[in-house]
Amino acid sequence: MSFETNDEVTRADIMMRGTLCRCPNCGRRGLLASWFRLNKACASCGMDLAKSAGFYSGTTSIGYVASIIFVIIPVCFLVAFKVLSVTAGVLLGIFGSFGFIVLVYPVMLCWMVMAYHVAMPGELPANGGREGRDE
Ligand SMILES: [Zn+2]
Repeated sequence: MSFETNDEVTRADIMMRGTLCRCPNCGRRGLLASWFRLNKACASCGMDLAKSAGFYSGTTSIGYVASIIFVIIPVCFLVAFKVLSVTAGVLLGIFGSFGFIVLVYPVMLCWMVMAYHVAMPGELPANGGREGRDE
C-alpha cells in the first residue's frame, strides 16, 4: 500500500478544483486563455496543460452529445406534446444546442483537464510529476 504524503494533491482535490474550473495543480484560475481555448500552461503555477491535450479532441463531441440530451430531446417532447410548434421546435433545437455548446465549452475544457489528472494524479508537479519546473 502506498499512502499519500500530506503535500500531495488527492483525487478529491483535483475533482473539486476541476468542477470549479480551477487548475488541478495549484487550485487557482489559470486554465483558460479564452472562452474556447486552454492556456498552454497554467497562468498561475505554470503547469504544462498541453500534456493532456490528447483529451481535448473529444471535447466537442461530448458537447454535441450533451446538447442532444439536454436540448434536442426536451425540444422534441415539447413539439410532440404540442407545447411548441414544429417551426419553433426546430429553431429552438438549432439555436438552443448551439448556444448550449458555446455556454458549456469552457467548462468542458476544464473538465477534460480534470479527467486527465484524476486518472493520473501523479503527473501533477505538486505531486512530484515527471517534468517539474524548469529553472
Ligand atoms: Zn495552476
